[in-house]
Amino acid sequence: MKKIALHWKILIGMSLGLVFGFLMLQINGGSEFIKNWINPFGIIFINLLKLIAIPLILASLIKGISDLKDISKFRNIGVRTILIFIVTTIFAITIGLVSVNIFNPGKGISTETIDRLTSTYANDSGVQAKIAEASAQKNIAPLQFIVDMVPDNIFAAMSNNKLMLQVIFFTVFLGISLLLIGEEKAKPLKNIFDSLNDAILKMVDLIMQSAPIAVFALLANVVVSSGDPDLLYALLKYAGVVVFGLFLMIVFYCLVLYFSTKINPFWFLKKMIPAHVLAFSTSSSAATLPVTMKIVEEELGVDQEVSSFVLPVGATVNMDGTSLYQGVAAVFIAQALGFPLEFTDQIMIVLTALLASIGSAAVPGAGMVMLVIVLESIGFPADKLAIGLALIFAVDRPLDMCRTIINVTGDAMVSIVVAKSVGKVDFSKIKRV
Ligand code: ASP
Repeated sequence: MKKIALHWKILIGMSLGLVFGFLMLQINGGSEFIKNWINPFGIIFINLLKLIAIPLILASLIKGISDLKDISKFRNIGVRTILIFIVTTIFAITIGLVSVNIFNPGKGISTETIDRLTSTYANDSGVQAKIAEASAQKNIAPLQFIVDMVPDNIFAAMSNNKLMLQVIFFTVFLGISLLLIGEEKAKPLKNIFDSLNDAILKMVDLIMQSAPIAVFALLANVVVSSGDPDLLYALLKYAGVVVFGLFLMIVFYCLVLYFSTKINPFWFLKKMIPAHVLAFSTSSSAATLPVTMKIVEEELGVDQEVSSFVLPVGATVNMDGTSLYQGVAAVFIAQALGFPLEFTDQIMIVLTALLASIGSAAVPGAGMVMLVIVLESIGFPADKLAIGLALIFAVDRPLDMCRTIINVTGDAMVSIVVAKSVGKVDFSKIKRV
């Protein structure tokens, strides 16, 4: 019998997870059963992926940099990557703002629905935690983000997945120093990292074997954790605008890839399926990173010299889906609560959402924390923040799942474009139009 491809097994796992979740919702104690006995398998899987993210960044980036023949190439890669990240993020926020201004999802929402959403979620610990987290971030000095990139203890940095940029900083520094001490002296350490890199990629393969079961568990849990269906329904128009914008981003990526590299966009999307389903089920670009790296290097023909830098940096700073969502959500909340927005406010949203998406951690729900900062930048009253977040809280998880797909796809697209610009794509692996 022909073996079923892994991505099909994962898709089947997802669908069965959804169906199982809905069935268990009908049974007394079904939700508890999923939370206690099924969800842990999903959490173990996410932990395994996160477990290998830092060692993979270390091994792969050292290998990537020390394979470079000269350092100036690295500067080119760095500058282009950051510039393209900024341009795509601004584009994403603009798409979000244009869509929300055309469809006006917040204008039709009744006061009764607003009251129900407020009474259900405004005092929810999740909403309160996001506001508290945002206010902690807000009091940080302007240059603190640069200070935060430079670790004072690499072991402390490696022990916290939120400090990925610090690990990247150290690794780039070490990689460049290895280049500078010359091939002979660098060889022993380089060999260790090369072999670590191979071993970790094997670990990705092994972990992915359990993906069909893990996504079953994760999706079943999402179903039983979601809110009142009536409230979800009331937010359908808002969610529809976000999803529509995210879909336009996929079209945008495909067009950029087509025009810059002639890659067949459908082939690209098909290759990305395992990363997409993981992003969707884990809602975390960081957890998806090992799989994205493997696909981009092994299947999309991008040289490790480029992917090992662009993808980990992208997972932390380039979040097109998140910034698009922040644009839509900010305007939706303002519309629903009758807070007038000038054109200049919308420009302010573009700027703060750009900075916010850079500052968002690559973990579930991070985008909502930064949304608080976006809302505050346009003068949204602090006492109404909890009500504003309550309006969108019910659909945040499904939208997080969708926007994480875009975050991951954007990183992959940028790594191909940057690699092409420095002649580092193996076109023999790629299907072109
Ligand atoms: N979950 C997203 C990510 O990891 C971030 C967010 O939008 O909340 O990419």
